[in-house]
Amino acid sequence: MKNRTVLISGASIAGPALAHWLTRYGWTVTVVERAPAVRPGGQAVDFKGPTHRAVLERMGVLDEILRHQTGGQDQTIVDATGKPQAVIPGEFTGGEIEIRRGDLAEILHRHTSCEYLFGDTITALSETPDGVDVTFANAEPRRFDLVAGADGIHSNVRRLAFGPERDYVRHLGYHYALAELGEQVADGEAVMYNEPGRMTAVGGPKASAFFVFASPELHYDRTDTEQQRRLLIDAYQGAGWRLPELMARIPQAREFYLDSLSRVTIDRYSRGRVVLLGDAAYGNTLGGFGTGLAIVGAYVLAGELLAADGDHRVAFARYEKLFRGYAKISQRGSAGPFLAPPSPLRIKLRDWTFKSRFLLGLMLKATDKFATDIELPDYAPGS
Ligand SMILES: Cc1cc2nc3c(=O)[nH]c(=O)nc-3n(C[C@H](O)[C@H](O)[C@H](O)COP(=O)(O)OP(=O)(O)OC[C@H]3O[C@@H](n4cnc5c(N)ncnc54)[C@H](O)[C@@H]3O)c2cc1C
Repeated sequence: MKNRTVLISGASIAGPALAHWLTRYGWTVTVVERAPAVRPGGQAVDFKGPTHRAVLERMGVLDEILRHQTGGQDQTIVDATGKPQAVIPGEFTGGEIEIRRGDLAEILHRHTSCEYLFGDTITALSETPDGVDVTFANAEPRRFDLVAGADGIHSNVRRLAFGPERDYVRHLGYHYALAELGEQVADGEAVMYNEPGRMTAVGGPKASAFFVFASPELHYDRTDTEQQRRLLIDAYQGAGWRLPELMARIPQAREFYLDSLSRVTIDRYSRGRVVLLGDAAYGNTLGGFGTGLAIVGAYVLAGELLAADGDHRVAFARYEKLFRGYAKISQRGSAGPFLAPPSPLRIKLRDWTFKSRFLLGLMLKATDKFATDIELPDYAPGS
């Protein structure tokens, strides 16, 4: 085998999935994660169709994921007085298998046996003909045969190896926030409320309260959640329904996460010995496909490295060829206008799609098609 050691940046979904496969194929894997531990939180994420199911089954995690399912619960869209306007069926929001993102990250982490460097980050990458010299904020410098960037939409590896974020990430005109507001808010029926350009969802098993709002790109310190809480509160000034009560709870929210809705577009997934996967390569925030793409992407990338006996030039080219078509869904659409339509009329039209069995059927069919649109190779039959 040509290459044997790999450094993966990011321990959320794509990173541990790649680590799982490569350790199984005999590689020595190190994962570096900026957070001090596997990050909890996030809404429920979902898997659809036989392709996702096959990869999870081959990883040996399907049964455990099924045990942690949140179960697709219907969500009622209400007006400012709380009167129901439409119902979003669980099968639409939850796919076929739905699980809290934090639970999934924890399961994947447990199914890897490799070195983790938590609370650290790569500071520089320098490629030589036979490896990549890496420096870290905390750990001693080391050399790896390959480096994989699984560090999300705002990927550090992409910035270091490919160039600045502005060249690859497009803001889609919306931001979203997740906040743990306590049992009083989380308990009860799942409801969603809209005003033009603003959406709020609370209740049900999908964990945190969830907000989506239209806005130009906001510039803030990613580590400063106090500042981010203020940005959310500002964005919901003057809102009706239960928003005054919910906003009053934001400063004390146990967990808080805010980010933009953005899309990643990159013409090559690899450069030399450095490769990208997951949201770092094909992210489209809240598009509904990120987690499935991350899992399948890790499977294909690791499988191609196995098939090419570690020759990264051959493997990265094959990964690109096989996967780019499957990941095309990440280049389409934005969830923003659907979740937070810009006018009262557009809100009514969106609600109406959920009242029509026919339109809903079409939407479900389209998402199923994208989730299975790849011929999945069996890289290690019988293993
Ligand atoms: C806390 C959190 C909450 C989320 N909530 C939702 C949600 O509610 N709904 C949804 O659809 N998707 C959510 N996502 C995104 C979802 O996980 C991804 O779209 C998808 O699963 C693909 O995962 P990924 O592993 O490629 O990227 P991500 O899940 O974004 O993970 C990237 C990982 O890289 C780490 N990282 C970032 N920078 C560095 C660095 N410099 N050095 C080392 N590590 C770094 C991050 O801490 C994170 O663990 C969330 C992600 C996170 C991290």
